[in-house]
Amino acid sequence: MLAKLSDVLESAQREEFAVGAFNTPNLESILGVLNAAEELGCPVILMHAEVHEDLIPIDIIGPIMLYMAKRAKVPVCVHLDHGESIPLLEKAMKLGFTSVMYDGSLLPYEENVENTKKIVQMARNYNVSVEAEIGIINREGGQNEISFKTMEHMYTDPMTAKLFVESTQIDALACAFGTAHGIYKEKPLLDFSRVKEISRLIKIPLVMHGGSGVSFDDYRKAISSGIRKINYYTYMAKYAGEKVSGKLQEAKGIPYYHDIFSWGTEAMEEHAKDVLRVFSKTSRWNYHDDI
Ligand SMILES: [Zn+2]
Repeated sequence: MLAKLSDVLESAQREEFAVGAFNTPNLESILGVLNAAEELGCPVILMHAEVHEDLIPIDIIGPIMLYMAKRAKVPVCVHLDHGESIPLLEKAMKLGFTSVMYDGSLLPYEENVENTKKIVQMARNYNVSVEAEIGIINREGGQNEISFKTMEHMYTDPMTAKLFVESTQIDALACAFGTAHGIYKEKPLLDFSRVKEISRLIKIPLVMHGGSGVSFDDYRKAISSGIRKINYYTYMAKYAGEKVSGKLQEAKGIPYYHDIFSWGTEAMEEHAKDVLRVFSKTSRWNYHDDI
């Protein structure tokens, strides 16, 4: 069923787990993620990122995500990830997305606050929740030479976060504490005490971006420090690519395209299930270690 971000994160806050939020720029990832969440019985978030507009525009993928969320057996939130352009944010709200992230993190603080306030006001008219970001989460992944040790100045400052949340009245806050988008070239050093301090100062749910590629142990630490939404994509897409590539090599002759589609869906389901078990703490059974 289609759910609001605030409802899904409220239960995560109460029961101290994190909700997995996956970018789904194709039908295979939508099906894989929803199958995984239904099998585990946990809530989940489907996300369309503004950066994926080139892969598939929101006009096409948005209604599919919403349709699939409505027919799911678990609560599913449909979210716009890293929305920077106001027309796209409004388009998502009009389509029926239940939450949006406004990303003004690269703007000067005052401008970020002003824009976020405008988005919150607009979102209230559509009954949509808003996530925003303070601090800068590295966008280049581990693909550049920035060492995690030199990134501290980009991390979220707890007092600034408190002020930002009070001024903007957002529903969830993305914080920078050592994670990065994309592929990690070195093991991230996460600043959990910073997350604990932010979570002590502000009462809204905290979001981890660049969640894929982090160790299972670090997910558990992040969750116990106060993280309630974990954004996940790169390593799921990479895993499916590897699986499909392996199957293609094993296949005798040229396979049908629908077989490739099924391999991709199955791989993403398997991968999403592995991490959702950790995020939602439905991990009483054995799962294989870090992926
Ligand atoms: Zn992100």
